[in-house]
Amino acid sequence: MRAARLYAPGDLRVEDVPKPAPGPGDVLVRVEVALTDGTDLKTYRRGHPLLLADPPAPFGHEFCGIVDGRRVVAANSAPCGACEGCVRGEQCRELVFLSGAYGDWLLIPERIAGVNMHDVPPGVAPEVAAMVEPLGCCLRGVERAGVRTGDRVAILGAGPIGLMLAACAADAGGRPVVVGGRPERRALIEEFGAEAGDGRGADIVIEAAGTEEAWFEAEELVRPGGTVVMFGGLPRDARPPIDAYRLHYEELTIRGSFHHTPATVRAALGFLASGAYPWETLVTHRVLLDDLPALFADPPRDLLKAAVTP
Ligand SMILES: [Zn+2]
Repeated sequence: MRAARLYAPGDLRVEDVPKPAPGPGDVLVRVEVALTDGTDLKTYRRGHPLLLADPPAPFGHEFCGIVDGRRVVAANSAPCGACEGCVRGEQCRELVFLSGAYGDWLLIPERIAGVNMHDVPPGVAPEVAAMVEPLGCCLRGVERAGVRTGDRVAILGAGPIGLMLAACAADAGGRPVVVGGRPERRALIEEFGAEAGDGRGADIVIEAAGTEEAWFEAEELVRPGGTVVMFGGLPRDARPPIDAYRLHYEELTIRGSFHHTPATVRAALGFLASGAYPWETLVTHRVLLDDLPALFADPPRDLLKAAVTP
């Protein structure tokens, strides 16, 4: 079969590889479509401690595919159910991941197939269903933020994740404001239930840009007594500055949000199927698998997500 594999930052190759051999409980999916995302672009540019630990690495994790005539999606991980995080109802500390959606076939490990694989509801386009993983992360982020009716929620980052967070915050009763992004993105921001603005004095700020500057800016924007959620991951050795005065004297709450849970993955699939927001507009480009390396090498300026077909 054909699959894209990452050899090193900037070195992505589509080549012939052996079709994965499923073990007991594993599920082999014929990929209909995979979607690019920000993590993939970041990994392509600068590598990744986990995803590129043992190159050449299978690549891509948002997908929709077919198993035994059924259309399915799966999240890219599943909790173990046994570690201390799982027992406490917190994020799992032993997540099992899958990768390799940029290919003809994708192996879903048994644990993920059992917990986080779902049939796609009728009428949902494959490329929309494939957004279940990032939207599950966004629902988790809004849950961690504790959005309540009427809260002004500033979101730093106007990419696909920022827009999905806006929709999740609006659906939770909040009033999202998307900070940053080019002027031509403004119409899209409104379609996802938000307005464009500077976010100053927001009740809640969600950092979704994944830079040290944005981490600091998030804390600067929130109102006294407000909550900041750090949603965008930074490199392991990052030590962004904190405003200790504001944190202490203005009693800010700073929380992290990482990944999704089986509950938010299920909720995300229902949210996509509801058609409440124009999810399909997040797919701005379509490429064949063979053309994926060229897309990563020189991403179009207006790229939100690309649908990749084998
Ligand atoms: Zn666990």
